Amino acid sequence: MAEAHVLIFPLPVSAHVASMLKLAELLTLENLHITFLTTDTIHGRLTRFGDIQVLSKSYPTLHFKTLSDSYDEGDHPGFGDRIWDLISSTTLHAKPFLRDILLSHTPQIPKLSCVIQDGIFGSLSADVASEFNVSIPIIQFRTVSACCFWAYISATNLLHSQELPIRGDEDMDRIIKDIPGMENLLRCRDLPSFFRPDKKGNSTFESYVDRSRQSLAADAIIVNSFEDLEGPVLSQIRHHFPKVYTVGPLHHHLNTRKAESNKGEDIPKFKNAIFQVDGTCMTWLDAQPEGSVMYVSFGSSTIVKREDLMEIWHGLVNSKKRFLWVMRPDIVAGKQDDDRIPAEVEEGTKERGFIVEWAPQEEVLEHKAIGGFLTHSGWNSTLESVVAGVPMICWPYFADQQINSRFVSEVWKVGLDMKDVCDRDVVEKMVNDLMVHRREEFLNSAKAMATLAHKSVSPGGSSYSSFQDFIHYIKSGSRENN
Ligand code: UDP
Repeated sequence: MAEAHVLIFPLPVSAHVASMLKLAELLTLENLHITFLTTDTIHGRLTRFGDIQVLSKSYPTLHFKTLSDSYDEGDHPGFGDRIWDLISSTTLHAKPFLRDILLSHTPQIPKLSCVIQDGIFGSLSADVASEFNVSIPIIQFRTVSACCFWAYISATNLLHSQELPIRGDEDMDRIIKDIPGMENLLRCRDLPSFFRPDKKGNSTFESYVDRSRQSLAADAIIVNSFEDLEGPVLSQIRHHFPKVYTVGPLHHHLNTRKAESNKGEDIPKFKNAIFQVDGTCMTWLDAQPEGSVMYVSFGSSTIVKREDLMEIWHGLVNSKKRFLWVMRPDIVAGKQDDDRIPAEVEEGTKERGFIVEWAPQEEVLEHKAIGGFLTHSGWNSTLESVVAGVPMICWPYFADQQINSRFVSEVWKVGLDMKDVCDRDVVEKMVNDLMVHRREEFLNSAKAMATLAHKSVSPGGSSYSSFQDFIHYIKSGSRENN
């Protein structure tokens, strides 16, 4: 009999849903009941493209509940910088659904023991729980890096010390001196993208900072990171929260625990995707020499200007290296007057390239043919690359990606940062630096970091132990509650 029951509620976008589903799977392996709450659209996509039927069959204690959509995402959920609209509309819309779940009780399932809510919802679950006198722990899960979360938390102090705001005419190379744990490391351009001045008079910045401030009232937070990766920042975060559990890299942690529990053998492969996965690239990769392919993907949400896409494409072709590129159908902004591809680019792509709309990325990065990753530095992509020991070229788009790419190049030294530049010659040079001229240097540091990632989720490792503590915390709270 499962002892505890946890509600998990991610922001209804691809990467948030995918990583919180991994957390759900980890918790069900520990014999907990999980109610996973997402929107009708995401649930429909998980059913069509992600095999959640497989997951439900394999884990009888995992239950799915849906809420209606609050936002019309059109044909394809690549939100780009409209993401805040989705966050605020979901926050408002979810309240009655949360209330119903908090107040209801299903026979055969233990009473709700706690809520694990996406940290981006701020005080949403806590507000609903307090309004209806439900007294259970509210735990926040952060899908961004710890360094980004810490930058949000530190924003108030930076405003007081006048290191912020960033002004319209700012020198973006100005160093931010005073964030404990990352002193003199970040330039203005390396701060999370919402710190940059925007057309809305910085209201987006205030909204994100405010949500992180609301997190400070959480009973606990879970971070998808590990001590050897972000130790100094995690120590700073620990001063501000009663409990901080670091359980990452989640995808690797899940695979390790599944293998340990024999569930890996029992469970057919679960895709955990909201897009149609094109596996043909794996056959193409099988035919490529070891370490010869640059993998290019900008995640689920990035929107690219056509001229930038063409600069990158020219740079890749001119580098004369092989490449596998994930080009989502909605990756280019707006309707195009001219979508012709120059002959030399088409020719070079035919010779050395392969393009898919959505790849099985974790498998791709683990493939021996992959020698580098040109990435937008989304946190999941970064962690997947770290685990696979693949060096990166970072071309960040928004949110935590600007700070993640700084850490990749300057702290972990596992790649190059191409932030704020999009030029075919730079792309060509960086690809050749990563894959040829500085290959050994980057490979050595990437392999060393991969070993640390592996250790962290193995028995006795920091994330492994932190997860055990977390399970103990949930189960002991649940016994008191029932
Ligand atoms: N991903 C994938 N196939 C693709 C592109 C991306 O499976 O073709 C997955 C990738 O493995 C990662 C997630 O989508 O887990 C992207 O998350 P990330 O945090 O890197 O970026 P976001 O999508 O939030 O911008």
